[in-house]
Amino acid sequence: VIQAPAVAQKRTTREWQQADSAHFLHPFTDHHGLSSKGSRIITKAENIYLWDSEGHKLLDAMSGLWCVNVGYGQQALIDAATRQLKELPFYNAFFQTATPPSIEAAELISSVTPPGFEHVFFTGSGSEGNDTVVRMVRRYWDILGQPERQVIIGRVNGYHGSTMAGASLGGMSGMHAQGGLPIPNIVHIDQPYQFEHGRGMDRDAFGLKAASWLEDKILAVGPEKVAAFIGEPVQGAGGVIIPPKSYWPEIQRICDKYGILLVSDEVICGFGRTGNWFGCETMGSKPDLMTFAKGVTSGYIPLGGVAVGGRVAKALIEQGGEFQHGFTYSGHPVACAVAVANIKLIQQLKLVEHVRDDVGPYLAQQFASLRDHPLVGETETCGLMGAMLLVKDKSTGTTFPGEVDIGMVCRGHCFANGLIMRAVGDRMIIAPPLVMTRAQIDEMMALIRRCLDLTLADATKNGWI
Ligand code: PMP
Repeated sequence: VIQAPAVAQKRTTREWQQADSAHFLHPFTDHHGLSSKGSRIITKAENIYLWDSEGHKLLDAMSGLWCVNVGYGQQALIDAATRQLKELPFYNAFFQTATPPSIEAAELISSVTPPGFEHVFFTGSGSEGNDTVVRMVRRYWDILGQPERQVIIGRVNGYHGSTMAGASLGGMSGMHAQGGLPIPNIVHIDQPYQFEHGRGMDRDAFGLKAASWLEDKILAVGPEKVAAFIGEPVQGAGGVIIPPKSYWPEIQRICDKYGILLVSDEVICGFGRTGNWFGCETMGSKPDLMTFAKGVTSGYIPLGGVAVGGRVAKALIEQGGEFQHGFTYSGHPVACAVAVANIKLIQQLKLVEHVRDDVGPYLAQQFASLRDHPLVGETETCGLMGAMLLVKDKSTGTTFPGEVDIGMVCRGHCFANGLIMRAVGDRMIIAPPLVMTRAQIDEMMALIRRCLDLTLADATKNGWI
């Protein structure tokens, strides 16, 4: 028997950092800047806490990267992976084959999705899920004899992944500037961000206005050319942009009016984050396709996919013949076994109800109380995700000038004080694990207040306000 090597050798933080900058290219990273500073090395985790290689404890208010919904260290997921690794670590789902975990995961996901979603296509990530969406949507219209329906409409500042199609569907200008994106036939409308586009307006009136931009775009492109609209129920990476209640039902009405497919990117909002299994349920839309990833395995192992509603499934299955698409890891048995254990754990712990009825409303109340802080212009939450906007002058809602990266200043204080909170421009955002308790929310709020005070002290000292 050959023993497994020690997974990670013991090295000092400096040694890890040197090897890291010598060999490891990180996602979305300026490596020149990083190598002079050195990476933060995270070494272990439990529940909602992480530890770095220096032994510092951090409250992870971002669930890793919006994914560790059940928190770290859940034995049921570890056991499911271990069992499946021993039993059958890999087999593919090509060539008329399936494995028990891939079947069970598809069945279980279908049971927690809204009515009408009976089928699941698995991928390895959210980006691959959205690439699948592009191919599936265009294939759908081909099958229906309308191949001219090619155009997919996304939103400015939306995020749908980093592959060619994912980054094209998304509306991040920095990403489009690299690599000749978006790919053809993907266009964008503005996001429903009231601070940017509708200050002073009635909230629901703004929601209807923002949704009307979809109809404007459909008419500009030509309704007969539009295949689908894609959006996140709540934009995550864009800064936790929560649309008015009126927005998604109106988007739905417009999609229905022109017969175009509605795609809900549930990569962040799925699996309990918003207080329902899926964000579209919270926001009031009935999509045709839903992309998922992250929370489906709580990030313990990579898995993504597309939940396929009846309209598309019927065409693909009954009329479509072979859909020439798929990945080596579509339905990976270990990933699917972890998904099954994760979904059952969410059910056993009643995490969706916990978010909807208990910690979600409690977080909303606590977050709103931050508005008394001199730096906080607005706060909003949806389930267990929240955002606060840091402003220079609350009375006028004036933001800091571009050269003052107030979000990064605040984020620096968070890391130094044992809290992981993310900065998106001037918006500080959180999406903590769904297992979080009220007491842990109190602990997080005390850390947030401390970091806001330290940021305010910097702003005062440096003459930024
Ligand atoms: N869609 C959304 C809404 C996301 O937030 C993300 C990742 N943050 C993706 C897609 C892409 O997922 P992945 O990074 O797994 O490819």
